[in-house]
Amino acid sequence: MPTDSLENAPAATTRRDEAPLSFAIEARIPGAGGRAGTLTLPHGPVETPAFMVVGTQATIKSLTPEEVRGLGTQMILGNAYHLYLRPGAALIEEFGGLHKFMGWDGPILTDSGGFQVFSLGFALEHGVGKIAKIFPGEGSQAPKRAQRPKLTRIDDDGVTFTSHLDGSTHRFTPEVSIGIQQQLGADVIVAFDECTSPLHDHPYTARALDRTHRWADRCLEAWTRRDDQALFGIVQGGAYRDLRLQSAEFFAMRPFPGYCIGGSLGKDKDDMRAILDWTLPILPEERPRHLLGIGEPEDFFSAIERGIDLFDCVAPTRLARHGALYTADGRLQIKAARYTHDQGPIEEGCGCYTCQRFSRGYLRHLFHAGETLALRLASLHNLYFIVNLVRAIRASILDGTFATFRDSYLGRYTAKGGATPGKTLSA
Ligand SMILES: [Zn+2]
Repeated sequence: MPTDSLENAPAATTRRDEAPLSFAIEARIPGAGGRAGTLTLPHGPVETPAFMVVGTQATIKSLTPEEVRGLGTQMILGNAYHLYLRPGAALIEEFGGLHKFMGWDGPILTDSGGFQVFSLGFALEHGVGKIAKIFPGEGSQAPKRAQRPKLTRIDDDGVTFTSHLDGSTHRFTPEVSIGIQQQLGADVIVAFDECTSPLHDHPYTARALDRTHRWADRCLEAWTRRDDQALFGIVQGGAYRDLRLQSAEFFAMRPFPGYCIGGSLGKDKDDMRAILDWTLPILPEERPRHLLGIGEPEDFFSAIERGIDLFDCVAPTRLARHGALYTADGRLQIKAARYTHDQGPIEEGCGCYTCQRFSRGYLRHLFHAGETLALRLASLHNLYFIVNLVRAIRASILDGTFATFRDSYLGRYTAKGGATPGKTLSA
């Protein structure tokens, strides 16, 4: 970090040393930015790289905290937007905070609500995810003003939006988002940002980035009430190199003890890798980095190699509920007729509860019968698969075999076309 840049940093600089977080890097990937380490938070340690299981509504859908812990999960993610709307942050505070309310005593990160307020509404209207090819052959196109989400009104101070639950009107500002996250009480909270879509053009993304940066400084000022929470900044800038560089430089100068990489990650996985290549070398290497909303097997290797430490994604549980199950040979669709007589587990050698006890044929039956156990067993397997894949990558960094492991794993995973092309589910 250039010394002179500190002069432009806000007055809160000294808080970095007081952050309730420590991050120790234990091993590095030779010739790359990737690393394995341990992030220590008020509710315990997280061995990184790590995958956070997503608990949107103060629950990991269909699973108990003991089951989630039993998969190897060390940290989960909660959504400020959803919990603010229902049951309300004040009610959760009344119960002693999110940890006690949901019976999870490990580390939690809450997002700021920015993604849901801006991008989820926009994505729902336009069918856009974090990585999306919208207009093949046309590149990134600016949405017409009339196409902007009608339920969201943004100004320089904050954003007014309509609840997807009951149509009521609400307003988030940086101060409101921090206040909600302080009431929820997660170990890590995230600065409130304007999350842009892959549909936004450069001029709009630049204006949104400017707002995100001003809001980040307001979040730092608002982050005063609790000393048991770490506030992460969130780097934005869409798929535009100059904006990503500008944003990474902005955040590198601020006293955030860690960072999220947010927003649009371009039109395909090459764009995502390029965005990480632009961004990560600028961020202070001693602080942890979280890539928001990414969690497909083939994404982990390239992101971890470049220096991502934390992931979260709804894909494992969302896919599970649709009967799409991960295996080392790619994903299989358990509802398919070919599994009717299959007495083997989802995957031979898998250590999860489901694979220890149940056959593919039984799972297929549960899905066709509409039994809730199907959702539980499928979620247990998919989360076990993803959490332990990231743990295996961590182990390969520690023992110096990352590149070998990556090549053999991806060679098998993609060999039968099981990998997902270009499209990633996001929260
Ligand atoms: Zn399994």
